[in-house]
Amino acid sequence: MEKINYQLKNRTDKVKLPTNLGFGQLFTDHVFEMDYDTVLGWHNPVIKPLENLSLHPATMFFHYGQAIFEGLKAFKNIDGDVVIFRGQSHLERLNRSAKRICIPEVDTEFVLNALKELIAVEKDWVPVNKGESLYIRPFILGVDTFLGVRPSQTYKFIIILSPVGAYYAEGFKPVSILVQDEYVRAVRKGLGECKTPANYASSLLAGEEAQKKGFTQILWLDGVELKYIEEVGTMNIFIRFKDEIATPKLTGSILPGITRDSVIQLLKSWDVNVTERLISIDELISEYKKGNVKGIFGTGTAAVISSVGRLTYKNETMLINGGNPDDLALRLFDEIISIQYGMVEDKFGWIFPVQTKEEFVK
Ligand SMILES: *Cc1c(COP(=O)(O)O)cnc(C)c1O
Repeated sequence: MEKINYQLKNRTDKVKLPTNLGFGQLFTDHVFEMDYDTVLGWHNPVIKPLENLSLHPATMFFHYGQAIFEGLKAFKNIDGDVVIFRGQSHLERLNRSAKRICIPEVDTEFVLNALKELIAVEKDWVPVNKGESLYIRPFILGVDTFLGVRPSQTYKFIIILSPVGAYYAEGFKPVSILVQDEYVRAVRKGLGECKTPANYASSLLAGEEAQKKGFTQILWLDGVELKYIEEVGTMNIFIRFKDEIATPKLTGSILPGITRDSVIQLLKSWDVNVTERLISIDELISEYKKGNVKGIFGTGTAAVISSVGRLTYKNETMLINGGNPDDLALRLFDEIISIQYGMVEDKFGWIFPVQTKEEFVK
């Protein structure tokens, strides 16, 4: 692949981040972009100022949704170094999503390096306070100008960056969840395991209805029998039974979360019995009634760990651990955060350095 072409803005003002960053509202002022066509493959890599896209109204992805994305984070650790958490795993998942919807794969090593260069350009946008981070959103769109249904032959790959605030600004608050049995998110052998816009479009109505009823999130059941639990909104789910921590196995309709994988690896390293298996909603309810459900938590890049305080299915509401976060969820949260901010050793090789403090000084 060619060298990255730099078209940098002449920054006159120093970057000043607001105190309350929120999520996904503020964007840094450069992007990474590259193009694909069938002759050149991926080409024309460039880091350039963020600007609006200009696209023909017949651009294919507007009509048929041929698009994929990723969501990962960079942190400024306690030594002042910027690091990316599990970048390689996220890009490998991007390629798996790509394959499923006929998007050409990217060279993960090249993209990781491009990301590193982009973040180095935007280093002043990486927030420094604990809990804050730089959210990274790579995405790919099919951009042929054509109204027939077929895979596009040209694509655009873009990475945008957004400084985001601490998810738990008000503390580690357990969420209330509605088990959704009116709608389904995805089915096996469909698109459930891809990070593709269609999955989010299909979840919006159910999410809105649950919020009107006072719930924070929804727990999806499998799309065929509405019997097995799958995942929560944009998080995977773990149930702490008496002698086991179980998470739904990846059957094809569940998004294979990187945080899910990190949690499984951590629990194994702590000799906790963690299993990936089918968990029916009936099993969950009957175990709850026997007093065997000690905790429930969700996992995802945005919140890392989100403790579930209440779970409602039809007319039954389960109060989990008295509505309080369980100790294991808190321990996992602390451990992952500590790895991300460089407070404990990264035994798993999850941390990818972007630029050192010394390099910043130059
Ligand atoms: C992104 C996502 C997750 C969590 O994945 P992470 O890699 O842990 O961030 C879970 N479910 C859905 C539907 C998602 O989009």
